[in-house]
Amino acid sequence: MKKLALHWKILLGMLLGVLFGLAMSFMDQGDQIVRDFVKPFGTIFINLLKLIAIPLILASLIKGVSDLKDISKLSAMGGRTVGIYLVTTLIAVTIGLILVNGIQPGKSISTETRQELVEAYATDAAAKQEAAAKQREAGPLQALVDLVPDNIFKATTSNRNMLQIIFFALFFGVGMILIPEEKAQSVKDFFDAFNEVILKMIDLIMLVAPYGVFALLAALVVEAPSLELFQALALYAITLLIGLSLMIGVYAFLVRIFAKKSPGFFFKGIAPAQLLAFSTSSSAATLPVTMERVEEHLGVDEEVASFVLPIGATINMDGTSVYQGVAAVFIAQAFGLDLSLSAQLGIIFTATLASIGTAAVPSAGIVMLVIVLAQAGIPEAGLALIFAIDRPLDMCRTIVNVTGDAAVSLLVGTSLGKVKDVPHEKKWDDHYPKN
Ligand code: ASP
Repeated sequence: MKKLALHWKILLGMLLGVLFGLAMSFMDQGDQIVRDFVKPFGTIFINLLKLIAIPLILASLIKGVSDLKDISKLSAMGGRTVGIYLVTTLIAVTIGLILVNGIQPGKSISTETRQELVEAYATDAAAKQEAAAKQREAGPLQALVDLVPDNIFKATTSNRNMLQIIFFALFFGVGMILIPEEKAQSVKDFFDAFNEVILKMIDLIMLVAPYGVFALLAALVVEAPSLELFQALALYAITLLIGLSLMIGVYAFLVRIFAKKSPGFFFKGIAPAQLLAFSTSSSAATLPVTMERVEEHLGVDEEVASFVLPIGATINMDGTSVYQGVAAVFIAQAFGLDLSLSAQLGIIFTATLASIGTAAVPSAGIVMLVIVLAQAGIPEAGLALIFAIDRPLDMCRTIVNVTGDAAVSLLVGTSLGKVKDVPHEKKWDDHYPKN
């Protein structure tokens, strides 16, 4: 394992995890053994990643903003970031809608299969509906209110408050720019060093990543639903996977045209983050690694990456957007509903907002889908149709969510002249301490 690049090690861990999970599911009590003795190591790995997300955002964003030295630069970066995020999200929902209308996977579901699925997953679907109801009760400006924490220590106690932490860090950074430089210096030095320590912690966590993903995938395999279910929903899954692959193509194109970088360079640079996104199903848990890869291996300046990526992890979810479009229309088709053009345009609008509001954690997308369904007048019980295979598809859409954030940070960095050349050896190697 000595000379192998990190992404190969992670891939090997994933592969062995799947094989181990498969072997154990044929063994008596194998499932239970994996659940009791292997899965906890996967959970510990995810916890380690999540553990450093908030300190990382705080330190790197405060340092990044104060490095800008000028508030107008911040607003230029903010405008571009949100603008490009919005455009990629709209492209994603539109791709999803065009594909699902073309392929029509919902028409292939027989009435019996539909009935069976609705009955089998009714309780799971109801739980997600309940969670969505809570989100819906809030007024239209609640998201804006939620942006501003009333207590920073309270805000840092939950990884779901990422936007509040971002708000505080930006505000603090602006305060630092506005005081005399010599006064701000010691605070800056502190966050600088703090940031270095956190980056080193990421290096250390990545040393155990191959083992972490092994445990995660072994547990997923023993908990996977039956193969028959996959067959019934195969066309839906294929439609979604085509949409997600097209989005990856869109990023490759944008990176080539606007950042003048080869797709090979881009994907090799962020491969470990993509693999972790797949294994953890959470862009928030992947964020520390995404930041490290984008800075060290794509050459994006820290002040850009530390601004664009945490915001992207919370508001830019292109994989989730493709999914919202495909899943909503798939359910409508399965229930024999014909959606008018205006209903579909409405889906573009609500799916864009829903993907912005989706938390960067596993299965968050399916909760927000309830809102899209309700808005379009599609039966919410239809959620039960896609429930069984949501997890593997969540893993795939999270790859796209993370890739989109990385691509946009490269684009924003290029437009601001903040991308440096990566030393050759970094391109293909990792700076992680070799084990
Ligand atoms: N799991 C996704 C993410 O963290 C969100 C989703 O469920 O679509 O990016």
